[in-house]
Amino acid sequence: MTTTDSDRYDRPGRNEPIPLVIVQGFLGTNGAWMWGNFEQYLNHASRVRRKTIFVSVGPVSSLHDRACELYYALLGGTVDYGMEHSISHKHARYGRNIAQGQYPDWSPTRPLHFLAHSMGGPTVIKLQDLIRQGHFGPTAQTPMILSINAISAPFRGSGLVYLLGERADAAPAVQPLSVGSILGKWVHVVSYLSPLVSHIIDFHGDSRSLTYRDISFFTLLQQLWRSDWAESTDATPFDVTFQAADERESQGEGVVDAETFYQSHVAEMTRRHSQGSNFHAPPYSQMISPLMYLYARLLGKFDYSTIRPRPSFLSEKPLSEEFWANDGAVPTFSQWHPLSCCHTLCRHLPVDNNEREAIPKPGVWYVKQEFDAHHMSLVPLWMGTDFQKQWWKRLGWWLSAVDETLPYRQALYSGG
Ligand SMILES: [Zn+2]
Ligand SMILES: [Zn+2]
Repeated sequence: MTTTDSDRYDRPGRNEPIPLVIVQGFLGTNGAWMWGNFEQYLNHASRVRRKTIFVSVGPVSSLHDRACELYYALLGGTVDYGMEHSISHKHARYGRNIAQGQYPDWSPTRPLHFLAHSMGGPTVIKLQDLIRQGHFGPTAQTPMILSINAISAPFRGSGLVYLLGERADAAPAVQPLSVGSILGKWVHVVSYLSPLVSHIIDFHGDSRSLTYRDISFFTLLQQLWRSDWAESTDATPFDVTFQAADERESQGEGVVDAETFYQSHVAEMTRRHSQGSNFHAPPYSQMISPLMYLYARLLGKFDYSTIRPRPSFLSEKPLSEEFWANDGAVPTFSQWHPLSCCHTLCRHLPVDNNEREAIPKPGVWYVKQEFDAHHMSLVPLWMGTDFQKQWWKRLGWWLSAVDETLPYRQALYSGG
C-alpha cells in the first residue's frame, strides 16, 4: 500500500473540512446566537459540515491581551501574557486557566481558518506576530494559521476612536464625559461585579484585580475617576489609534506569512461628496442605520491633520479618497490590509457573486470591496439578506479551495 500526500495529512478525517475560528470585534462577546443561520450557507456546497468555533476574548482588551486569550482558548492552559508585557503594563502575567481548549490538537499539521470581524482582524494579525516572535514557545508556528478572512477590520487605525473621545493630541487620555469615557466607567462597574455577571458579559479582566473580591469600593471609585485600563496603551481604544497602528507596523507586525491565505472584505457605505473633493458622505438611504450614518458622515470629512503624533501615511500625500470613504466605523484604506499597498503583497478585486472564486494563493492579501454595506451589514447580526447569504456561500467555496491545497502543504512539512 502506498502513502499519498493526502494520507500524510494529519486531520481527524480526510474528508473533514478544516474548522473555522470566529473572532469578534470591540464589545463582541460570545454571541453565536446573533450570527444566526450562516452555517447553512457556509456549507452550501460541502458534503461534510465545517465546524465553526466561536472564541471569547476580552471585548475591550488590547490586541496583545486578546491574542494571548485567543491562543489559550483554542489550545487550553493558563493564559500567559508574557513577563515583559505584564511588567510594562502593570498587570499580572497570568490570566485564567482554561482546562479544556476548544481545539487542543491545533498545530502546524492541524491548522485552523480564522474569520475576524472588526478588531478581530488585527487580533489575529497580532496572534500571528506573537507566534512568529516565539511568544508561545517553539511548538507554536505560523502555519497553524491556515487562513485569515477579515471583515471591516481597522488594521491601520480609525478616526472613530477620536470621535468617541480618545484625545487626538494625547492618546491614550480620554476626553471627560465622552462616549469613550462613559464606556470605560461601565467596563469597570461590570468588571467589579463580574463574579456575579460573567455569564452574561465577560471582560476577561482576570489579570487586573478589578472585582469586588480583589479591590475596595474606594479603589473602584478611583478607577471610575481615571481608569488604569481604559486610559492606558493596553486597551482596545489605544490600539485603534493611528499612533498604535504605526507603532505595530514599524515593528514589522502585519508582514504577510508566505504560507497563510489572506482575504479582506471591505465595506463601504459612502460616496464621493462632490467632484474635486476626496471627502465622502453616506447617501440618505443609509439613514436606516442612524448611528452608522452619523459616524459615516463624520469620518467622511475627518481631519487627519489634528492627530499627534502625525500618522505616517500623511507623508504619502496627497491622500486618496479611500481615507474618507468608510463603513460608518473604519475608513476604507484601513480595512484593506496591514501596511500600505507598496509595503505588502495585495490584489484588490471586484466582487462577483456568480463566479466561483479563482484558486487563491498564500502570502497575498485579496481585497474585496463590498459597496453600500456598513460595518455590521455582513456580521455579527444575521438578517437573512441575500447579501449575507451570497457572501457566506462565497466564503464556503473559498475555504474549500484552501483546504484542497493542504495535502501539498503537508508534503512540504514532512519533507515529502
Ligand atoms: Zn496586557
Ligand atoms: Zn493593497
